[in-house]
Amino acid sequence: MLDLFNLAGRTALVTGANTGLGQGIAIALAQAGADIVAAGRSPADETAAQVRALGRSFLDVRADLSTTAPVSDVVDAAVALNGRLDIVVNNAGIIRRADSLDVEEADWDAVIDTNLKSVFFLSQAAARHMAQHGGGKIVNIASLLSFQGGIRVPAYAASKSAVAGLTRALANEWAAQGINVNAIAPGYFDTNNTAALRADPVREPAILARIPAGRWGQPGDLAGAAVFLASRASDYVHGIVLPVDGGWLAR
Ligand code: NAD
Repeated sequence: MLDLFNLAGRTALVTGANTGLGQGIAIALAQAGADIVAAGRSPADETAAQVRALGRSFLDVRADLSTTAPVSDVVDAAVALNGRLDIVVNNAGIIRRADSLDVEEADWDAVIDTNLKSVFFLSQAAARHMAQHGGGKIVNIASLLSFQGGIRVPAYAASKSAVAGLTRALANEWAAQGINVNAIAPGYFDTNNTAALRADPVREPAILARIPAGRWGQPGDLAGAAVFLASRASDYVHGIVLPVDGGWLAR
């Protein structure tokens, strides 16, 4: 039974794997047996050390995903590691906080381009490879703001709601080619993304009080969902957005 979750021999590309949720996901996939290709703006040395300590291969690719320019090169580099690309985790993302009356166009574009446009075009580049090689797994990192509006983050909410729609759209098209496209919607996790919230004496306790599990998430809390959606265990799962939120959406 557990062999369904075994990722030995698979190559997984994880964007933004140098820190936070992407780092947790990369390590989880490596623990399940996958070799890891990290793509991001910053060196992923800490992640590399942990993946290699597990006996898995690790390749670090520099890529600024605020534009779509690097997506083909990223996929080519990932394929070159082992001659295959089985798993893509679209994790890299940014958030810009401002009252909606004050949001600047440059911030709107940066959030939409990184969180949505690059996710689509990287998925497209990967799926072109996967479709010719028997399929694969694409896991998008959505958000609670794929379901809710949030506060002072309109571009982020729009981008993550669109990621949920994109996940369903791509699943519909690519399921027949053996490609599973699904998403994880993390709740409130302790990463750079939420540093401003955790430092806010009003928002932090208000958020914590609404989480039934009674604590913020840690990157390792995504391990099970990530391995599930990256493995054969989810072969008949298409187009879902799986909340991993300590029960937030159940309230
Ligand atoms: P983080 O800020 O620690 O990590 C973001 C990652 O994305 C970093 O590796 C960063 O280098 C990378 N990145 C950002 N812009 C990039 C660019 N232009 N090119 C390449 N890489 C880029 O935050 P995190 O919480 O680990 O965020 C990871 C994902 O999870 C994001 O998509 C975020 O929206 C999502 N998310 C986070 C939470 C949370 O509570 N932390 C909740 C829901 C969703």
